Amino acid sequence: MSRHVAVIGSGVAGLVAARELRREGHKLVIFERGDQVGGTWVYTPEVESWDPLGLDPRRAVVHSSLYDSLRTNLPREAMGFRDYPFLPREPDDRDPRRFPGHAEVLAYLEEFSAEFGIGELVRFETEVLSANLVENGNWKVRSKKRGDDDEVFDALVVCNGHYTEPRIADLPDRNAYRGDESFSPNSPYFMHYLLAGSDKWPGKQMHSHNYRIPEPFRDQVVICIGSSASAVDISRDIAGVAKEVHVASRSAPDGTTKKQLGYDNMWLHSMIERVHEDGSVVFQDGSVVFADIILHCTGYKFHFPFLETNGLVTVDDNRVWPLYKHIFPPALAPGISFVGLPWKVVPFPLFEYQSKWIAGVLSGRLTLPSVEEMMEDSNSFYSKLDVSGVPKRYTHNLGDSQFEYNDWLAVQSGCLVSEEWRKQMYFATSKNRITRPETYRDVWEDDDLVSQAHQDFIQYSQ
Ligand code: FAD
Repeated sequence: MSRHVAVIGSGVAGLVAARELRREGHKLVIFERGDQVGGTWVYTPEVESWDPLGLDPRRAVVHSSLYDSLRTNLPREAMGFRDYPFLPREPDDRDPRRFPGHAEVLAYLEEFSAEFGIGELVRFETEVLSANLVENGNWKVRSKKRGDDDEVFDALVVCNGHYTEPRIADLPDRNAYRGDESFSPNSPYFMHYLLAGSDKWPGKQMHSHNYRIPEPFRDQVVICIGSSASAVDISRDIAGVAKEVHVASRSAPDGTTKKQLGYDNMWLHSMIERVHEDGSVVFQDGSVVFADIILHCTGYKFHFPFLETNGLVTVDDNRVWPLYKHIFPPALAPGISFVGLPWKVVPFPLFEYQSKWIAGVLSGRLTLPSVEEMMEDSNSFYSKLDVSGVPKRYTHNLGDSQFEYNDWLAVQSGCLVSEEWRKQMYFATSKNRITRPETYRDVWEDDDLVSQAHQDFIQYSQ
């Protein structure tokens, strides 16, 4: 069965979803509010300068959160799609490194799009304003280009990305803290409501979404909150020009302030305890710093401002629910699906597996369990997380379980499971990143896995 499908977004998720949907015989329209494919990988020096914390929902949104110096945190062999390997290409002006800069990733995605004729399906500069459930389980999509346009589709595949909306706790004030782990003083998110909107602390505050280059931080005293991959990269980027960089991290050993190895102007602290009108910032370890800027590297939130599902899908503390296998809302399946929610994963191949399953389910080649069974499965998944004390906002954090997830999807879809070398390479890279945070992109010990990957890739270049 061929369906008329709307794909929202032409980043990695939208591109691979489009490829798989078309392969399965569906008719598609891809809506893209930007003017080119690639999503996050389209670097722009532009920032949301009037609202550097991203607090105002009406602000003019800049989509990408990439910074200029960004190199991938995954090796290209593991990062690419299965049958379209991310190999270094001629001519020489491309970036052949194993962990290349962001422009190389965009070039790869543009080639992928051209190779499979996806670009011609995209309506550029066409933002989806709303997507409503209408009769017969169809979806009415209202988009904006020249004027407002309405169009009805059999199905909606949501691929709008999740690194654009800064994660800001929305509790109105500090007294609203009721013991929710996400807002405990040990959480970086706590800082958002401790500081955001507060006129108490006189310095500048911004979110890493609006970080591009280190130059504006020259000779400044900067505090970076967070310990994610971006926080690590950005604090080191800034340390090259700033007077001092102080990293406030939950993972810092308690009660200590530690100078960062290899830097004479960077320190690791525990979380911030309070801030004062005189510009001082007091950390839980008792140290005090007079800072110019606080940079919140505290992540992003799932945001679907266009989606109207009559409450059948909601976002609660970054849990998008209820969803069967992070993809289908049971009550609306298969008419709406999400590609790209899992994080701390190797995104491209995972999105590929998700897309194959969605394409097969939409055509009727694959069947879903009943609504009740899907609901039961999702509820039992949430219960397990809750019982293990995993905060809601980690619902889509797959980490080590991603390959089991991919393999489950592969078996459902009747395609090959993840390659063994890819799994091992992911774990080897994670280990190397911890051992050599400064140099893991240039020094590694898994050349045997690289050889296995290249051996595997031969079949796709013939
Ligand atoms: P996006 O790339 O964000 O694409 C979403 C698209 O949807 C955009 O083009 C946007 O314009 C469009 N859109 C949104 N809303 C609408 C609307 N209403 N109407 C129409 N169009 C809309 N991954 C890796 O594999 N390796 C890395 O090294 C790596 N490093 C990263 C570093 C940073 C700083 C960040 C932020 C992410 C990194 N990632 C990395 C993860 C990266 O986000 C994924 O690789 C991938 O790009 C996500 O693709 P996506 O399609 O889900 O979202």
